[in-house]
Amino acid sequence: MFIDTHAHLWSKPQGLDALAESGKIEQVWLMQVSYYRGSDLKDLASEEEMLEVARRYPGFFIPFGYINFAQGPEQVDRMKEKGFVGLKAIRPLKPYDDPAYYAIYERAAILKMPILFHVGIILKNTREEMTPAQSLGPTNMRPSMLDGIAAAFPELPLIQGHMGFPWLNELFESLFYYPKIYCSLCGFVDYRWLIDHLDRRCQVPGDAVETVCDRMMFATDSCYGRPGMEDPVRGAQFIEDFFQRAGRSYQWGGKAREVLRENARKILPA
Ligand SMILES: [Zn+2]
Repeated sequence: MFIDTHAHLWSKPQGLDALAESGKIEQVWLMQVSYYRGSDLKDLASEEEMLEVARRYPGFFIPFGYINFAQGPEQVDRMKEKGFVGLKAIRPLKPYDDPAYYAIYERAAILKMPILFHVGIILKNTREEMTPAQSLGPTNMRPSMLDGIAAAFPELPLIQGHMGFPWLNELFESLFYYPKIYCSLCGFVDYRWLIDHLDRRCQVPGDAVETVCDRMMFATDSCYGRPGMEDPVRGAQFIEDFFQRAGRSYQWGGKAREVLRENARKILPA
């Protein structure tokens, strides 16, 4: 059983029963990004569709609401009331750690809603496909921008969505310093970086020794319910094989379960 910590939902989704009943997938965290007006992602599920699917498969599909950085912190309360469990951040007009956005993060911390931030390289959408309040390119979405937010709200889980390419060493620095920063492994995954860094120690309070591996979580970034979507079990199997084979002579080689399930359960306990 594994948890997919970064995924999306297709509009009028197909085949969800088979996925929910496969016995392989324990939970799927769905990121709401239906703002895409152009591109091949314009058929992503709306907020209402996503919440309806979450109600239809309780505890299986977990909805994360979309932060509109042009709006204030009240939106977080509205999302909580609607049934969103976490939040998704992407394409801010200013850098993620701009003080203007801290009121939003403060509400998330008070309402205990983890936030997944897209970091690093991003789809090359055109200006016309975005709203005026959204940025193009990755430079407002660097991994180290989560550090200031983690320092301000140390109990709020923050998830690096992807590895933040090309700022991979910023990712390590964030994981090293802040025990509530995690990484959701999908998109551009640098396996060479993982081999070199998964065993590195992170700083945590007290005596517990945590490594980069204890903050990494499996994800597919797939659109669930999209006709022809790749079987997510394949991706999970690959990660299991990667740990067992490439990781065989490293400490991290024995940590597939943590990455596939246990680390995610630290953020959203069963
Ligand atoms: Zn995504």
